[in-house]
Amino acid sequence: MTLTSAGTRAERIAALAYDYASQPHEAVTACNLCGTSMFVVLTHRDRYGYPAQAHACARCGLVFLNPRLKPDAYGRFYDGVYRPLVSAFHGRLIDARTIQAEQREYAAERAELLRPFMGGAMRTMLDIGGSTGVVAHHFAREFGLRGTLIDPAPLEVEQARSLGLDTITGLVEEHDFSGQRFDAVIICQTADHLLDVRGTLSRVRQLLTDGGILFIDIVDFRAAFLRNWSVEDAIKIDHPYYLTDATMRAYLQATGFDVLRMDYAADHLHVSYVCRPGTPRADALPDPASVTELLREVRQVQNAPRP
Ligand SMILES: [Zn+2]
Repeated sequence: MTLTSAGTRAERIAALAYDYASQPHEAVTACNLCGTSMFVVLTHRDRYGYPAQAHACARCGLVFLNPRLKPDAYGRFYDGVYRPLVSAFHGRLIDARTIQAEQREYAAERAELLRPFMGGAMRTMLDIGGSTGVVAHHFAREFGLRGTLIDPAPLEVEQARSLGLDTITGLVEEHDFSGQRFDAVIICQTADHLLDVRGTLSRVRQLLTDGGILFIDIVDFRAAFLRNWSVEDAIKIDHPYYLTDATMRAYLQATGFDVLRMDYAADHLHVSYVCRPGTPRADALPDPASVTELLREVRQVQNAPRP
């Protein structure tokens, strides 16, 4: 890949020559959380400068890219564009190797959050979107679990296999687990990258044993735009979804998870949830007041001077 530190941010991104606009896109016609189709267009470009619109569902407050890349185009994006683009944005090399130190620190922190819920009877763990396996490997060792990792990126899965994890190259929505279930499922720094959050969580609910534990974390969209006082800077083509505490909790209720513990990460950006299987409430929705508040905050950030 090209040198990532030369020139301005805009020049570095332009040097990648990734033509986002001409990639195959698809329109989102129904909200993934509540199914309605009354949307509010919040923004018209993302933090890289690509012409990507973020929409909010007027009923439930879910924020998502619309239109967005088709699955094949996302596949090509992750296979060669994603890491160089993030490197160009930050002006330093970020790849499957350099992220490992960061991943080890993340794994150690999150293991402490999970520890009170990891009983002796637990034997198996599935890591969805687990990249190079650093986190799954740490959890497997720490809690005495046999770890399986599923991820669509072949090179990263290869690294995970070398750490002694069972690996699957693919997507959890599509893979046939033939009745296999897991005592722990972890979805780390992945929820915002999914193409179907509701479908994935419903699938996970089926894959979890009765006494099982789900760990999932999100980039809190409100934290992301409030900290930079810019909504556009919180939008990036690599994230089809922009979750908030209100929308994530509604997703968990709707797909049958009870939240046992929440954690505001030390970076003040991520929010984590430790959950156990509960009864799905398919029509669970965020409090309508949270939708009004989100749209009010977006307009304030777009129009009021930074405090
Ligand atoms: Zn909705």
